[in-house]
Amino acid sequence: MRKILLVEPAYKNKYPPMGLMKISTYHKMLGDDVTFVKGIDAVLAMKAWDRIYITTLFTFDFDITVDTINHYKMYADDLDSIFVGGIMSSLMPEKVMAATGLHKKNILIGLFTDTSVVGDDNDINVDLLPLDYDLLEQISYKYPAGDNYFAYTSRGCPNHCKFCAVPILEPQFTVTNNIVQQIEKINQKYGPKQNLLMLDNNILNAPNLSEIIDSLCQAGFYRGAKYENPGDYNIVLMRYHNGDRGAFLDKRLQDYLISFKKRIKSESTLETYLQIVIDAEDAKDYAQYMLDHEAQLRPIIEKYRSKATSNRYIDFNQGVDGRRINDDTMAQLARLAIRPLRIAFDDIAYEKIYVNAVHTAFNHGIKELSNYILFNFNDYPEDLYKRLEINIKLNVELGIQIFSFPMRFAPINRTDRSYVGKHWKRKYLQAISAILHVTKGVVAAGSDFFYKAFGKDENEYREILAMPRDMIMYRSHYEETGETNEWRELYHSLTAEQKEALVDFVSLSNEEIKEKPSPKGLESIIPFYLLKFRPSAKVKEKRDRVSENDAYAFIADSIEIE
Ligand code: SF4
Repeated sequence: MRKILLVEPAYKNKYPPMGLMKISTYHKMLGDDVTFVKGIDAVLAMKAWDRIYITTLFTFDFDITVDTINHYKMYADDLDSIFVGGIMSSLMPEKVMAATGLHKKNILIGLFTDTSVVGDDNDINVDLLPLDYDLLEQISYKYPAGDNYFAYTSRGCPNHCKFCAVPILEPQFTVTNNIVQQIEKINQKYGPKQNLLMLDNNILNAPNLSEIIDSLCQAGFYRGAKYENPGDYNIVLMRYHNGDRGAFLDKRLQDYLISFKKRIKSESTLETYLQIVIDAEDAKDYAQYMLDHEAQLRPIIEKYRSKATSNRYIDFNQGVDGRRINDDTMAQLARLAIRPLRIAFDDIAYEKIYVNAVHTAFNHGIKELSNYILFNFNDYPEDLYKRLEINIKLNVELGIQIFSFPMRFAPINRTDRSYVGKHWKRKYLQAISAILHVTKGVVAAGSDFFYKAFGKDENEYREILAMPRDMIMYRSHYEETGETNEWRELYHSLTAEQKEALVDFVSLSNEEIKEKPSPKGLESIIPFYLLKFRPSAKVKEKRDRVSENDAYAFIADSIEIE
């Protein structure tokens, strides 16, 4: 039995590391012992490992990723046993090698389909293996995407959008539809999950779309599908029967049984129940004890557990290509419990296509939509406003709710987030980030909110982009103190050239600004950019309440894209 360490750097990420989850399945199939860690763990790093796999994600997380690799590398006896894979290392292997001293053979580029690259002699395609969800039990980090099915039916994308890494990472479009088997395997091993997050890059390009939709329906995600949570008792007992054991399973069952007791209405049943649960605490083998007492406990659980159902959702999380939406493709998608339908709106030039796509979706009964809005690429700041406003107008016209997710472009060959698009300025990007920060905590989407946050027209939007950051974030506070008005009066008194000079000046970094005196005529307005508001704990708490995975909060976060 080999000892395998799987490492994910300590960056924040929405999805669990699916590559590592498949590698875990692979090594467990071979009888190896697998340990998973997020970030740097000094104790684990010093242990002897037969193999260490480190995953990578965004290129702008380069520094934290390289630090993590270097840490584990420092303690490894044998460099040949370290493998680095994933998106970042596939996009910039040379940079990773230069920063870590690793060699070509240590870097796994693209999908892990051939195990000979790690020196194994078998014909297993790791990329096709099911995910090991148990791996996530080993760390405390909670992935915002939640405990759902993660799957795909196709790889790659035939388009070659210049801002996208998919054509480099998955150059061939291939259909790998084995979704029914993928889901069945997960059900048999881990129990059913409520929602399905599909990671296809361009599902509408699949030539056999109707077949794929048939499979997704068969897998339980047809329109109107319901989900009944079987409860942790049923899931853990199923796993005990399958031979699975583990402290995390015992703990899950113990927690469930403790909270379950309040559901039992009969005193005598409660007595029997408590007797079993309390005696279990002294059992040498908790799992075996529970199997031995199943005949007594299961009828009680079945009688009192909730059998309420809730809606199931399928989410093509990478978005669908609006150019391929028509009545035929939409009729197919509309057969699914799709929510939300995410349509990319990457360029204002696609306005007509986008608006048609939304109308087509609406005509097929899909009313919960969301979209990704790329900015800071070749667009102008006004393009972002226009696209958001188009959604607001569509909401009013069709009586629907479209939630928008602006995505700030960061080039895939850069290792930080500092890129400023050719029509953008650093100040404008900070302002957008401040506006989006304000939207955390806002539940309802609507025109009132939009026009307040982004301005009632493009002039006011430009003004907000130039406004001091804290004045954007704490709008009401500075409006009440009168400072917003003071700033506004000064701003309006500036000429167009001075406004430009102001934005250029406040776009400078702290280091750069030290070297430069305030431009002439701007001495009175610049101090407003030093304002610092300290929000109360209550305000902070309200702001943090909307988590990143709340896809239904309006512009819950600006997602950096690669
Ligand atoms: S952005 Fe979307 S459509 Fe464009 S290449 Fe990437 S996956 Fe394909």
